[in-house]
Amino acid sequence: MRVNVRNTNRFGHPLQEKFRGKMIYLKAGETLEMERDEAVLFKGQFKPLVRDKGGSQLPESMKSLVIEPIGMEIEEKPPEYKCQACGFKATSETGLKRHITNKHADELYDVTAEDAHKEIIKGES
Ligand SMILES: [Zn+2]
Repeated sequence: MRVNVRNTNRFGHPLQEKFRGKMIYLKAGETLEMERDEAVLFKGQFKPLVRDKGGSQLPESMKSLVIEPIGMEIEEKPPEYKCQACGFKATSETGLKRHITNKHADELYDVTAEDAHKEIIKGES
């Protein structure tokens, strides 16, 4: 099985490391395709830490890899506009707003009023 190995170095540093006799260079955020077994080995391969004079690890020496499956489409979920009050599902934000205005205008008003009241109490303490 082929997988993608992604460099997730959060400091944006590329990964440069020798693996099975080959020098691998992977920019931060980029992926490299390899066999799953190899990817697991590469990810687990020990990379010596480089420390600065203060003893903290240099960000560029941090190895941060994620193995991602290839060909598995991430299902694009349509955004859901769900009414928090009754669970009604609208197809658009406008639809949801309309629903709330139509069905929950009174409740909404009450909640807002109550919250405002709480705010006032909090402000006094
Ligand atoms: Zn509702």
